[in-house]
Amino acid sequence: MSTTRLARRRPSSPTDSSPWISAATSGIHGRGVYAKVAIPDGTRIIEYTGERITKAEALRREQQRLARQARGGDDSVYIFVLNQRHDLDGRRSRSVARLLNHSCAPNCKTENLRGHIWITARRDIAAGEELTFDYGYSYKEWRIHPCRCGTPKCVGFIVNSAQRWLVRRALRAERSLRAARPR
Ligand SMILES: [Zn+2]
Repeated sequence: MSTTRLARRRPSSPTDSSPWISAATSGIHGRGVYAKVAIPDGTRIIEYTGERITKAEALRREQQRLARQARGGDDSVYIFVLNQRHDLDGRRSRSVARLLNHSCAPNCKTENLRGHIWITARRDIAAGEELTFDYGYSYKEWRIHPCRCGTPKCVGFIVNSAQRWLVRRALRAERSLRAARPR
């Protein structure tokens, strides 16, 4: 049996690791996840597991994260936006899926398969590429999540693709304000 079929056969069993990937220091931020081998488009690579929490709890944990960041501690984000009411917190998960970074031009997407979140290749991925997906964060909190993905599409902040134009508009407005200010 090919490894592709093996990976696709197990959408219901949570996995901590995957034959497709390994974790290493990231070119974007902190630790990241890299393709060990070429990964075909559509491959379900690994499940994103974590604690299911409410939006209010996610907000409380985000404040804690910002406090850690201010102290110079680990500022990695492990909150996965599940739906309108709940998020997944992967911080204490053993799944390396929590280490995937956000990119404004990601090579992976997430799929919800009967309540299980899978990281799936959205195009063919070459061995050695860093795996990324769109964190899908709301425009409301754009300023606290700077993006360092470095892709030509990057808006400089982690915001879902549908709302990135709002960030571009806000940045344009700030630039013209600065330019108009008398010296
Ligand atoms: Zn970016």
